[in-house]
Amino acid sequence: MRPLTAQIRLDHLRHNCALARALHGGRVLAAVKANGYGHGALACADALADCADGFAVAFLEEALELRAAGVRHPILLLEGVFDAAELAHVDRHDLWMVVHCPEQIAMIEAASPAKPFRVWLKLDSGMHRVGFGPQAYAEAYRRLLASGKVDAVVKITHFARSDESDSPATAAQLECFDRATAGLPGEASVANSAGLMLHPRARRDWGRPGIMLYGASPQSGQGVGSGGLKPVMRLSSRVFAVRELGAGEAIGYGARFVTDVPTRVGLVACGYGDGYPRQAPSGTPVAVDGRAARLIGRVSMDMLTIDLTDLPDSGIGSEVELWGDRVGVNQVAEAAGTLGYELLCNVKRARFVYE
Ligand SMILES: *Cc1c(COP(=O)(O)O)cnc(C)c1O
Repeated sequence: MRPLTAQIRLDHLRHNCALARALHGGRVLAAVKANGYGHGALACADALADCADGFAVAFLEEALELRAAGVRHPILLLEGVFDAAELAHVDRHDLWMVVHCPEQIAMIEAASPAKPFRVWLKLDSGMHRVGFGPQAYAEAYRRLLASGKVDAVVKITHFARSDESDSPATAAQLECFDRATAGLPGEASVANSAGLMLHPRARRDWGRPGIMLYGASPQSGQGVGSGGLKPVMRLSSRVFAVRELGAGEAIGYGARFVTDVPTRVGLVACGYGDGYPRQAPSGTPVAVDGRAARLIGRVSMDMLTIDLTDLPDSGIGSEVELWGDRVGVNQVAEAAGTLGYELLCNVKRARFVYE
């Protein structure tokens, strides 16, 4: 069997959730969108049943998958509904939804639900992606309640730069939120992982941790274990072939790496078809039998090449950690010019082992 394995440590997931809960206080809406950031949404929701007060997914189909598997917790649709027909499912399956635009309010006004909807009304406090602007917010809030189709409105906003601990942008967004929602009753929710780890003033009724649950810091420069987080996914494979090359030999597509000294090259069963980033340059860290080593040459679809010259005891069958405990997913992401978020979401063709 091809040795690429994603170990998913559910005890680490629970540890990270407990940390989020302790930091933020109040209630925890655990983000399990995008298949639990690539970890398996259902397995993660089951493991978090006692820690999380609810789950956040992006859209209806993701929520229905959890409901079909028996998840009874509140589930919030972070993008809300895309058309009026989805409201029937929201009603039948007891889902909560974000409302971010007037069109969604019109759909609610026209609906005939069996029981009132629970709405999280989105304020655009400065990210300028979705949400009602500060001038339009109170009117949208009143319109929802006046529809008679909504029993409660939770006030929500989202930060654009909360991973930057020194940026004034988050404080400005908070100030905008407090001003726009002043006098409107109901619970509030503003903090994603970075918000709740780095901005104590952003703690409200509901925290919305995502990436931190999976053990990766929301700050891209941070290594394994930062903030007390434990990495949930450990992606590993094995060396399946070894080549001895002389000096001056090119390796792989595009001859991107040329040996300058005699080099022992290990072939590893993992490539961009598995979600390892093709953009990762020579020098990107890996761990071979627990020791530091590096990627050399272009990543292929099904395999990648590493330098074993300084690891004479390692060879065919040696275990290679792509990311996890010794190599932080954020370290690989930084080398490849992306975020741990993207790498985790993209893992496929691996054997998932839950423990
Ligand atoms: C994904 C998401 C979160 C979680 O964000 P993290 O940075 O992963 O903690 C929180 N709120 C909203 C609206 C989201 O879309």
